[in-house]
Amino acid sequence: MAQIIKNNITICSNCNEPLVWTFMVAYNEWFCVHCKSSFPMLGQDRKDWTQKLWDRFEENLKLFKKLTAYYIPPTIYRVNCDKCELGGEYHINHVSKRLLTMSNNAKKKLFKK
Ligand SMILES: [Zn+2]
Ligand SMILES: [Zn+2]
Repeated sequence: MAQIIKNNITICSNCNEPLVWTFMVAYNEWFCVHCKSSFPMLGQDRKDWTQKLWDRFEENLKLFKKLTAYYIPPTIYRVNCDKCELGGEYHINHVSKRLLTMSNNAKKKLFKK
């Protein structure tokens, strides 16, 4: 994360936790791992950078990675997947039943609705 400009940190307007950036949901690029709210790219609350906020951001990011470990976004192609490389079909459409179940369980933990 060394490339991130340390000027301010985007925070959740519901619970003041630093938000994590995600490409999982269109128009919901910011995600709060605590209250499960998601927000569009622009117009979110920001706070000046502090080490404390940054530490919380990194904690939230770790949590987010845990939550999304098995989640397969509905419109994604995977590299290193033969079927995806053939094209024409999203990864979610040809994963095993077990992976699909894991993804659905992860999704339930990720999103309120
Ligand atoms: Zn929140
Ligand atoms: Zn695939």
